[in-house]
Amino acid sequence: LARRLHGIEPTIFSAMSALALRTESVNLGQGFPDTDGPAAVLDRAREALAQGRNQYAPGLGVPELREAVARHQQRHHGIDLDPATEVVVTTGATEGIACALLGLVDPGDEVVLLEPYYDSYVAMLQVVGAVRRPVTLRAPDFRLDVDALRAAVHDGTRLILLNSPHNPTGTVLTPEELAVVAEVAVRHDVLVVTDEVYEHLVFDGRRHVPLATLPGMAERTLTLSSLGKSWSLTGWKVGWATGPAHLVGALLAAKQWTTFTSGSPLQPAAAYALDHEDAFPAALARDLQQRRDLLCEGLAAVGLTPRVPEGTYFTLTDVGHLGWEDGAAFCATLPERAGVVAIPAQGFYDDVEEGRHLVRWAFCKDEPVIRDGLARLAGAR
Ligand code: PMP
Ligand code: GLN
Repeated sequence: LARRLHGIEPTIFSAMSALALRTESVNLGQGFPDTDGPAAVLDRAREALAQGRNQYAPGLGVPELREAVARHQQRHHGIDLDPATEVVVTTGATEGIACALLGLVDPGDEVVLLEPYYDSYVAMLQVVGAVRRPVTLRAPDFRLDVDALRAAVHDGTRLILLNSPHNPTGTVLTPEELAVVAEVAVRHDVLVVTDEVYEHLVFDGRRHVPLATLPGMAERTLTLSSLGKSWSLTGWKVGWATGPAHLVGALLAAKQWTTFTSGSPLQPAAAYALDHEDAFPAALARDLQQRRDLLCEGLAAVGLTPRVPEGTYFTLTDVGHLGWEDGAAFCATLPERAGVVAIPAQGFYDDVEEGRHLVRWAFCKDEPVIRDGLARLAGAR
């Protein structure tokens, strides 16, 4: 194995989903829904295959999806983009993350990121040889410590890798917190890559504010999103990156040598989803809010009072409340004790102590599945 991959564990999400299958456990681990996205979107994909949309797309993606992404950013966020130069289709946000870092970060460059982090960030930061500067969102509120952020970013920082709504805490950064991110990025002339895949999945009347809409940020921000979460099509791996041409160009410079271009036939269907299925993520968010409350009440009832998330479809609990020293040990034995799978969060921290007791639960599953999982937890040994 190449040194650049040494020490990077296999992704916990695959490991825990395999464990769920093997042990016939209720999977409250990996974040994917039990129910697929809109039927009309699935129909468009079948049509695209039948109509022969089966050869290479242009490197930036099929024009109709790039145009739909630009319209989506304008309609939801008031962001104006030129689909010819400021939008690139990616194979999920995961490829967007990888190619953004490959295209923008040199060995030894400092990258400031929120901790706990999404696992692919750290793997790819290691691959590109970056130096990580984590800023910890601390229990129990998991808010951004703006002083810690101000202290972490300096003139030599290459980029800030942001994620809001935030996986795994469920924190949605407030306009005030985002303003501090913008302030430090502008002051120190730092680029930002912001992962906004949960942009539509926010609760209790909150609104997600894209960082790119803050003063001074449009020219230095690359925004990543995807169809997977908001339209319940995680297996399609259709994502996009938007921002100024120089940042989209840097991502494309790497993407042309990784995938060259993303799969064609799902792109027209994704364009249809963006243009005609705004109601889907809106209804999903309302529904998820109820499932969030169901999960949070059930977890509280077994002594695992969770952080009530503001967005995403995850929540964190402290298994120290049940006397467990270690969230990984708790999760490793949970299938046999309860027939349930959850995700230990300690791998999402440089500061392992900070995350040692934390376990993540997903509420994107169908309501009967969540109820089953909670009933099993209530009867756990
Ligand atoms: N970023 C975050 C924060 C995620 O939770 C996920 C998982 N959906 C991704 C990126 C990857 O998204 P995709 O499936 O579109 O590659
Ligand atoms: N984003 C999903 C999660 O956090 C999983 C995606 C993956 O398995 N890589 O659960």
